[in-house]
Amino acid sequence: MEAAPPPSHILKPPASTPTRPAPIEGAGMRFGDRPPRILPPSAPSGMRSHAPHRYRGAFFVEPRPLSLTLELKRPTLAEPVSGPKNLAGLTRAQLQAALVDSGVVEPAKAKMRTNQLWRWVHNFGVTDFGRMTDIAKDARARLEAEFVLQRPEIVERQVSKDGTRKWLLRFAPGVEAESVFIPGVGRAGALCVSSQVGCTLNCTFCHTGTQPLVRNLSAAEIVAQVQICRDDLGEWPSPAVDRQLSNIVFMGMGEPLYNLPHVADAIDIIADNEGIALSRRRITLSTSGVVPEIPRAGEKTQAMLAISLHATNDDLRNELVPLNRRYPIAELLDAVRAYPGLSNARRVTFEYVMLKGINDSPAEAKALMNLLKGIPAKVNLIPFNPWPGSPYACSDWATIEKFAAILNRAGYASPIRTPRGRDILAACGQLKSESEKTRASERRKAERADALDVQDE
Ligand code: SAH
Ligand code: SF4
Repeated sequence: MEAAPPPSHILKPPASTPTRPAPIEGAGMRFGDRPPRILPPSAPSGMRSHAPHRYRGAFFVEPRPLSLTLELKRPTLAEPVSGPKNLAGLTRAQLQAALVDSGVVEPAKAKMRTNQLWRWVHNFGVTDFGRMTDIAKDARARLEAEFVLQRPEIVERQVSKDGTRKWLLRFAPGVEAESVFIPGVGRAGALCVSSQVGCTLNCTFCHTGTQPLVRNLSAAEIVAQVQICRDDLGEWPSPAVDRQLSNIVFMGMGEPLYNLPHVADAIDIIADNEGIALSRRRITLSTSGVVPEIPRAGEKTQAMLAISLHATNDDLRNELVPLNRRYPIAELLDAVRAYPGLSNARRVTFEYVMLKGINDSPAEAKALMNLLKGIPAKVNLIPFNPWPGSPYACSDWATIEKFAAILNRAGYASPIRTPRGRDILAACGQLKSESEKTRASERRKAERADALDVQDE
């Protein structure tokens, strides 16, 4: 196990004293020490700390800190869409509406055409109308004139020495997110997808948490991550058996329960039997604990649930996962107990990142065991994955094993997650679209400048 040595400048925050001021939450807001911002999709990184700024004629004013009494609102920024409509990641209903609204397909044929397109797009992975051989040539030409079937741009593709693959995808200028395929995880291989660009919650151990929210990803953009992985694996049409991509985990960038409508639509598309046909039981939503959304998430998606717990008392969890100040552990566990469909065969996963000297003592293992009593649960111990400037170190291997043994003795399966793809910063919590690599960031800076030039015309 390659527990990375802590950098010598590591500053360990005291376990029980919050080092950050009171949390801020609201529309597009992040918890933590600086007022969060929603950025215009094309804002160059240099603009990240300035406001107001202009994007496509609209002013984006830095939000002022909101009080804790405000209701949670999902951040919304219109997705900049121009050019022909992309049909590649629409829901069935959206696809049918697009065909009819454009006048390309008459209402009487809309259902049949939708079914045909659906199969080509989601079962065969086709991105060219010309390959849809059961659609008449003139109908194909009309579709081609009006629509596209487009993947997002792959800005960077990296393969780790352990086989993990990571893609940095660009959905629009300045809107980039990463997804990671990890072979040998789940039944065959798991794809870790992003639900947001950046995150509004700045958990102190998470790299994504250092990136302000740019915007929620659309359902199509979430589905596109799966499509790109399948393109790369050459896994079209959807195989009935022996799939390489067998599981999907919403453990990439962002908090999926702050983007539930899009996440739920994406799951409907991915799980559709005539398309990618991935069982909902092989799809896992991971949340840092957005309590009011947990029951809705279960009802809408019927996906498996994972909770990023990481601490056994509120003082420490307030520090590590600042959202805990809003939804403390007891409330979170009540919501978990009520999650629809939980049973011994469908357990909730509690994720617990192992932070040296912070949350890894035998007493905390016992406290965790007590907290989970009565919940059909398993624990996933995640060795902390360091990132440039991260303020923690990973627990020693012996400490992690001791922690796991205590849970195992109490009857909780508690596998230690082998860090994967650390050499390409693809492991849990290391994702960030603003790659630290100068080459990539300089290229993007130039491109963003181009995009801004166009808008100013
Ligand atoms: N926002 C969601 C899902 C994305 S994070 C959530 O927080 O659950 C996916 C998982 O990676 C979470 O369990 C998160 O706590 C964990 N994680 C974040 N940063 C990490 C790091 N540096 N090392 C190990 N795990 C990390
Ligand atoms: Fe956001 Fe999850 Fe990272 Fe916390 S751990 S900052 S919720 S992505």
